[in-house]
Amino acid sequence: MAQKYEVRQMQQTQQVKPNPFENALEQLRIAAEYLKLDDGIHQMLAHPKRQLTVSLPVKMDNGQTHVYTGYRVQYNDARGPFKGGIRYHPGVTLDEVKALSAWMTWKTSVANIPYGGAKGGIICDPKHMSMGENERLTRRYAAAIAPIIGPYQDIPAPDVYTNAQTMAWILDTYNTLEGFMSPAVITGKPISLGGSLGRDKATGRGAVYTTVEAAKANKIDLKKATFAVQGFGNAGSNYAEIMQTYGPKLMGASDSKGSIMSKGGMDANKLIAFKEKTGSVVGFPGSQAISDKELLQMDVDILCPAALENAILPDTAKGVKAKIIAECANGPTTPEADKVLHANKVFVIPDILANSGGVIVSYLEWVQNLERNYWTEDEVNSMLEKKIVSAFRDVHAASLKHDVDMRTGAMIVGVGRVADAVKILGVFP
Ligand code: GLU
Repeated sequence: MAQKYEVRQMQQTQQVKPNPFENALEQLRIAAEYLKLDDGIHQMLAHPKRQLTVSLPVKMDNGQTHVYTGYRVQYNDARGPFKGGIRYHPGVTLDEVKALSAWMTWKTSVANIPYGGAKGGIICDPKHMSMGENERLTRRYAAAIAPIIGPYQDIPAPDVYTNAQTMAWILDTYNTLEGFMSPAVITGKPISLGGSLGRDKATGRGAVYTTVEAAKANKIDLKKATFAVQGFGNAGSNYAEIMQTYGPKLMGASDSKGSIMSKGGMDANKLIAFKEKTGSVVGFPGSQAISDKELLQMDVDILCPAALENAILPDTAKGVKAKIIAECANGPTTPEADKVLHANKVFVIPDILANSGGVIVSYLEWVQNLERNYWTEDEVNSMLEKKIVSAFRDVHAASLKHDVDMRTGAMIVGVGRVADAVKILGVFP
């Protein structure tokens, strides 16, 4: 244990983690250059429309009151209502939520669904809270953001350490305050409350569809391929489970407790069952422990970072051996690391494309709620596939046309569509 802690400390001091919002602005700056954006439009796209900070007093189980801080950042709604998840994590900061809300804006645009971008977050450690504490915190947060959310205004969804149950509490709180049942105010709901079939696996499934396209574009035979997943949570584990049905073998995985690899490969379903039982992938029979950096630099064809921002810094990027990176996480690669990966010809499917399956099926859920008409899981999955494959092709075409990496291609497509909408709306008053 002591040794592992030292390794992590060393990695952190060697590689300083940049501010995610600065990363987002740098990505925007690069796209603005290619798009020859007017300076005023660039400025408008570099600022969130609204940033709400709320203090959330919560009665803890021990009788004491603890005040949490929460955020909801509404970045841009030129193309449609604000849309984006809510994250519970001790590392949440306003700048992180701002970055995530900007990425949501470009993501809904790349997916070509009629939404803007937003994000929410609460600084808390849900792993050390009881169910009751979590519910009281969630309901207090929902009440605090209720004035600025709504089915046509801002539609939240799950993100890191929030799930369908969290969405149900938010829905109930919102409905209680409004006085009527309005399922379209939130997505990622339980099926019994109007959630969509296929939503829980949508982020991982969508990332698999983009990986299949990337493999075709790079002439990689998936039947003989190998892959590793950093962050075996909702997105990462579903990615692994669905990816292996296309042929590739899962060689490594990690979660917040550590990283593992197996020379002979692992069955994703067995690993999911093991993690459900023990709380971690660490200790999976037949696997051996490795460092997080070793996992990211494993000799595999496909690497899926599915945890948090800033996982791949320049120093780590230098040793990446994967040919394809499918970014299930938001913001896992810094702009500096991007340059290294591009120089080394690693094909990066950027977050705003690779993980857009979640928000695409959120959109399908919202449409079903508004229409009061529900689809089968096969129908949902095939609509997801159609939309994400078409987004992949738009981005790939832009990257070939401008001779840039896929991230810049995605930003050119995503930012370009938002900029057009902002421009034609004009400036009030
Ligand atoms: N939190 C997910 C994301 O980062 C889903 C957002 C949504 O469905 O609105 O894309």
